[in-house]
Amino acid sequence: MHSKPLQGRTALVTGSTSGIGLGLACALAQAGARLMLNGFGDVEAAQAEVARAAGAGGEVDYHGADMSKPAEIEAMVRACEQRFGTLDILVNNAGIQHVAAVQDFPVERWDAIIAINLSSAFHATRVALPGMLTRGWGRVLNIASVHGLVASAHKSAYVAAKHGLVGLTKAVALETATRGVTVNAICPGWVLTPLVQKQVDARAAQDGVNLAEATRRLLGEKQPSLAFTTPEQLGALAVFLCSEAAGNVRGQAWGVDGGWTAQ
Ligand code: NAD
Repeated sequence: MHSKPLQGRTALVTGSTSGIGLGLACALAQAGARLMLNGFGDVEAAQAEVARAAGAGGEVDYHGADMSKPAEIEAMVRACEQRFGTLDILVNNAGIQHVAAVQDFPVERWDAIIAINLSSAFHATRVALPGMLTRGWGRVLNIASVHGLVASAHKSAYVAAKHGLVGLTKAVALETATRGVTVNAICPGWVLTPLVQKQVDARAAQDGVNLAEATRRLLGEKQPSLAFTTPEQLGALAVFLCSEAAGNVRGQAWGVDGGWTAQ
């Protein structure tokens, strides 16, 4: 197999300064793609990690768009097209979580989750898609979740946004079905990232147990493999979905969930 199957392609991964997005960016860079990173926090460390994965000759840039702001999302897509001359792979990954019963759910958190986890994918897609269609090749990967397929209590906004993201994936896949652009969702179960570490910490505090026991309980409740999915596993799937072999995989919501949704 070609060691750099995505050589010559350009990828934009939203929310790629941490966790899953960073893992996806590293995998795509390692496969030869030029990378536009996005997200908050330690940008320099993320850029250095992706540059290491890219190796000699790799190109990595960054745009600080806030994914809750449509005008900034549009500016980021345009900046990527200008910087690299093209945008071939769009990974809508940025996301946040808030856990509360629906009657206690802060309205501001609901609005932020819908904006960042769902509407941002619509905005990035609507701006990036025309260029992909004109060039005749493109990949849109929406990082949804098992919560795009099934629900958990106290995650109403997240579940609503992720179900919406799976719906958006299917609709746009149909709109592009005869073209060289494919649109798919990836639906991970538990992945140990900062987003989930907060939930492990909360579980330990709530149950009065240590972190190892809280982790065991968290996985045991939902994920039959009792093992976290890794960003590396998700990265390998993303590279496959960007390959020519996956050229007729369209509108799928692909679980990587240790058996969660098989139950
Ligand atoms: P994370 O907290 O490690 O990373 C989130 C990323 O999004 C960071 O880079 C952060 O800076 C960025 N981000 C947050 N708000 C932003 C904003 N307004 N504008 C731009 N960037 C912003 O979380 P993660 O676990 O890596 O989650 C990444 C995606 O994977 C999310 O969409 C999440 O819902 C999804 N997911 C995570 C898991 C899991 O178990 N960790 C499971 C299924 C799906």
